[in-house]
Amino acid sequence: MHCPFCSATETKVIDSRLVGGGSQVRRRRACNECNERFTTFEGAELVMPKVVKRDSKREPFNEEKMSAGILRAIEKRPVCTEQVDQLILSIKKEIRNTGEREISSEFIGSLIMDGLVQLDKVAYVRFASVYRSFEDIKEFGEEIAKIGQQADSANELKSRQSKLFE
Ligand SMILES: [Zn+2]
Repeated sequence: MHCPFCSATETKVIDSRLVGGGSQVRRRRACNECNERFTTFEGAELVMPKVVKRDSKREPFNEEKMSAGILRAIEKRPVCTEQVDQLILSIKKEIRNTGEREISSEFIGSLIMDGLVQLDKVAYVRFASVYRSFEDIKEFGEEIAKIGQQADSANELKSRQSKLFE
C-alpha cells in the first residue's frame, strides 16, 4: 500500500503478527522513501444480514449498538470483558450461520438473552426487561420465575447460602 506520509508507492512489511485471537493480522510497515513507520490491520469482511426492525424498517447490522446493549446489561456485574467479547463473537457467528439475507431484531435479541442467561442472571433480567419492555409486572415476574426453574439444585443452594449473608 501507499505510504500515508509521503504517498510513496513502495512500503515494506517489517513485522506481521496475529491479533484478536487470530481474527486479524497486524502489520508494521516502513516506507522506502521517507522511512516513516505505520501499522495496518487486516481482517475478513464478512457480510452480515440486514436487520428487520419491529416497524419493518431495514437497517444494517450494527455491532456497536448490540455491544452497547450488552454492556449496559452487565454494568457492575461480575462479567469480564473477555466473556463479553466471546458472547458478541458467538452471536455474530450464529447470525451469519443462518445464511439469511435478512433477520429480525427479535432474533438478535433472543440470541443476546440466550447468551446472557448463561453469563449472569441479573444481566439477563436487566436486558430482557428493557428489550421486551414488559407490559406489566406480572410478565416480569414470570420471567424471573423461569430463571428460577432453570437454576439447578447446586445453584439454588448457593443462592440460599448467599441470602444468609445479605
Ligand atoms: Zn513515505
